[in-house]
Amino acid sequence: MGTAALLLGLASAVACLPLRIRKGQVRVVQFGLGAALCMLLLVPGDALSIVHMISLLVAACAFLLPMQAAPFRSRAGMLIAAAVLAILSLIAMLDVLDKGLVWLFVSGAFFLALQVFHSRLRPEKPPPPGQRVCVFGGTFDPFHRGHRALCEAALRVNDRLLVVVAGSAPHKFLGEEGTVDRTPFHHRVAMTRLGVEGLPRTEVLELEGRRAGASYTVDTLASLTASYPAGTRWRLLVGADMFQDFPTWREWEAIIDRVTLLVARRPGHALDSPPALEPFADKILGLEAPELEVSSTAVRERVGGGGEAGNNVPPAIRAYIRDHGLYREPLAGPR
Ligand code: ATP
Repeated sequence: MGTAALLLGLASAVACLPLRIRKGQVRVVQFGLGAALCMLLLVPGDALSIVHMISLLVAACAFLLPMQAAPFRSRAGMLIAAAVLAILSLIAMLDVLDKGLVWLFVSGAFFLALQVFHSRLRPEKPPPPGQRVCVFGGTFDPFHRGHRALCEAALRVNDRLLVVVAGSAPHKFLGEEGTVDRTPFHHRVAMTRLGVEGLPRTEVLELEGRRAGASYTVDTLASLTASYPAGTRWRLLVGADMFQDFPTWREWEAIIDRVTLLVARRPGHALDSPPALEPFADKILGLEAPELEVSSTAVRERVGGGGEAGNNVPPAIRAYIRDHGLYREPLAGPR
């Protein structure tokens, strides 16, 4: 029965290959293969040793438990571990190690390789031409309810929202001694993902974390616009504080050439256009959003002072900060 189930699973996988299989169908095939491997465990008699059984279980788990969002560093680690296991399985085949271990190594390598595959970055399908795409960049250290309110407001007037987590924002992290990246990128990405949970038409982008050195908005926009259809209407969402600093950004004229600025009020910051931006009045729009007196600095200070992140971050982010012990140490240096 187990062999029949395995053959059925394989046959369905092969049958799907020539089709342009959609995500849901892939899941069904994977589930079939995983179930078939589990059923092999039911083969009666002593045909399977304990090592074979564990190998089968590991391989079944590879199909049944796909990991969609492994952090970048753990993906590299998993890939290395998969390569090591594959080499070990070759060594075992040469009788240098116990031959019975071959299947264990192979299934382990397979499990890890499949997880790396599942957690790859998937290029999003670009929207049809003419859509309004809003880019919202920030260090999100951590993402707070002010950010969430801006996302919700931006979605009301745009077709799509791209939340870009800054790799190493020049205005925040560059001190005299060079780049100081305080909270690791993967934590800020994870919190941002938790922060935008449930928002439609929204994507969190990690492209700045993959570039070496400081992240400049002009470069980010160049790579984003290159992958979208001509005719896409680009907006860049900034809070009033960033708006005031905008003319100090690298190649800001090139930025405003590409995008319309969407500016949100922020308590304590003027909304007046900086003089350098006056000739670009037609490329600046106000965003209707609630004014919230909240900042990442305040959240960090609160946690650093021994408190909880409080209501300024969603409960899931509060728990994340607590579970990962973020912001407990007072940080020296520029921010
Ligand atoms: P920090 O306190 O570390 O400077 P922050 O709270 O300003 O952080 P960022 O991640 O730097 O958060 O902000 C990303 C964007 O969101 C910026 O354009 C910023 O102006 C805007 N922003 C953040 N908080 C608010 C807020 N409360 N109201 C309006 N805009 C905000």
